[in-house]
Amino acid sequence: MSDEAKRDPLRFLVVVAHPHDFTHCAGTCGIHVLMGDSVTVVTMTDGGRKHNEAYLDEMSKPEAKRDPAIANQTQEDYAAAKNREITEVCAVFGVKDLRILTFPEPLRLQHSPEAVDTLADIIADVRPHVLITHAPYNMSPAGITTHGLPTATLNDHRECAIMAMEACAMANMPDYEAKKQPHRIAAIYYLGVDVMPDQVDFYVDISDWKDHRQRAEALFKSQGQTEAFARKRIDIGAGSMGWAARTQYAEAFVRSQVETLPCIEVPQWSLQLASGSRIEHLKHIAGESTAQG
Ligand SMILES: [Zn+2]
Repeated sequence: MSDEAKRDPLRFLVVVAHPHDFTHCAGTCGIHVLMGDSVTVVTMTDGGRKHNEAYLDEMSKPEAKRDPAIANQTQEDYAAAKNREITEVCAVFGVKDLRILTFPEPLRLQHSPEAVDTLADIIADVRPHVLITHAPYNMSPAGITTHGLPTATLNDHRECAIMAMEACAMANMPDYEAKKQPHRIAAIYYLGVDVMPDQVDFYVDISDWKDHRQRAEALFKSQGQTEAFARKRIDIGAGSMGWAARTQYAEAFVRSQVETLPCIEVPQWSLQLASGSRIEHLKHIAGESTAQG
């Protein structure tokens, strides 16, 4: 990273369906914040109807046995807690520009077509070079993602991605009335967690950000996540991507389109892997050595 040629700072825009979805690229965002790039995170919903496991548990009981403190919780109470959590999570990765939108869940383009205009306005405001969002398609014939979770044809993540892609098109269309300056995004990447492992285009090594990712998971207490759960989730999730990436922890991405390079570029990591000690590499994967390769 440090030996890269100096370049102008990039502006990143992350558009996700729910607050927790940001975590899937949070380490990468942290790396770019440290490099001097700016990161804006937009969550299309406040997540008020997602992952409230304690509430669902309580409401599964007969009415007389429910704890009123949990059963009487409102969607606003839960969303407010989640807002506090995602704000803290963004701070962990140095992200200062967080925009929590409140489109209804389930998030559907047909129910909230105005979301496209809202996002197009955000694109016009932020003028990002890079957009990171969900995959706008179901990559797996079985509808199973890297999460190992089956996904419906319609789901919040895919709908969010379609909204974001529509907004990209809108932001680059002539606006004869408002005379808005058009904006074209240089690079669009989809979150690797939304696709099958063999559909990932590249990994970002976030081994140095593992503790941050765990802290972020543990901060989502409203979802019932404990410290132990946070460790397990990152070890399995970012850890399995790290394993595929031949490092400790990684985040996966898919290019929205084939990229054109100035020449054949070999990442420093690949060169280190090729020429470095095999034993040191095993130690690196095990977290026993900070030397890469
Ligand atoms: Zn989500």
